[in-house]
Amino acid sequence: MTYTSIKSEGDFPYDLRVAHLYGDLMNTYGDNGNILMLKYVGEKLGARMTFDIVSLEDTFNADDYDLVFFGGGQDYEQFIVSQDLPTKAVEIKKFIENDGTMLAICGGFQFLGKYYIEASGRKIDGISAMDHYTLNQENNRFIGDIEIHNDEFDETYYGFENHQGRTFLADNQKPLGRVIIGQGNNNEDGTEGMTYKNVFGSYFHGPILSRNARLAYRIVTTAFHQKYPDVAIPAFESILADETKGQKITDIKRKVEK
Ligand code: GLN
Repeated sequence: MTYTSIKSEGDFPYDLRVAHLYGDLMNTYGDNGNILMLKYVGEKLGARMTFDIVSLEDTFNADDYDLVFFGGGQDYEQFIVSQDLPTKAVEIKKFIENDGTMLAICGGFQFLGKYYIEASGRKIDGISAMDHYTLNQENNRFIGDIEIHNDEFDETYYGFENHQGRTFLADNQKPLGRVIIGQGNNNEDGTEGMTYKNVFGSYFHGPILSRNARLAYRIVTTAFHQKYPDVAIPAFESILADETKGQKITDIKRKVEK
């Protein structure tokens, strides 16, 4: 049964409801930290944030939510989720095509596409909300620090990747960024993650939003604006000025070396 895992306490003038898809299964490498960051930024905008875990055998109604988070998982959990996903595919696609705001990490990102090939070689269907697809690789994973730049937003994002899948984007998808350090979607075409309408996908764990406050601001304000188009949104600098600008990989290496 769908249940609320966390919500804002106190009075807020606005409301944002977030569906955490399969949050009890797809939550690897600290991805739940993204939920805390969405809550933190939403509250700064004056929104009461409510997070529902929508999992196996639950109904997902696109109209009930303003934002969706779909985290990553290991192949074992991903296979279990793949059995249930077709029951939610129509509503997830409706949410996306109606310009709903979504963040999908790693396994969640893979599932929005056509298919994912597990390390074992087994092919699992995605929901084909978009046309990206994910191949496997033999005895290898892409693991390590990653830095990308989004030329359209002129923002740099820092993270950590850990995936065996090699994802290839379709023509109507843009990468979340071009790889500066690391391997990205497939270690071939220099892309990492994707954007399509108001959907953001990425392989960044760690979690992505707590390390990249500008991306968190972009995602939450996109959802907020969809729901409250006439409300002025405070600038990043005025609500998140104290946040880290993103720790550079070189800074982290320097610390580790000390
Ligand atoms: N199981 C997938 C892969 O290895 C996704 C992993 C993840 O979500 N970190 O590519």
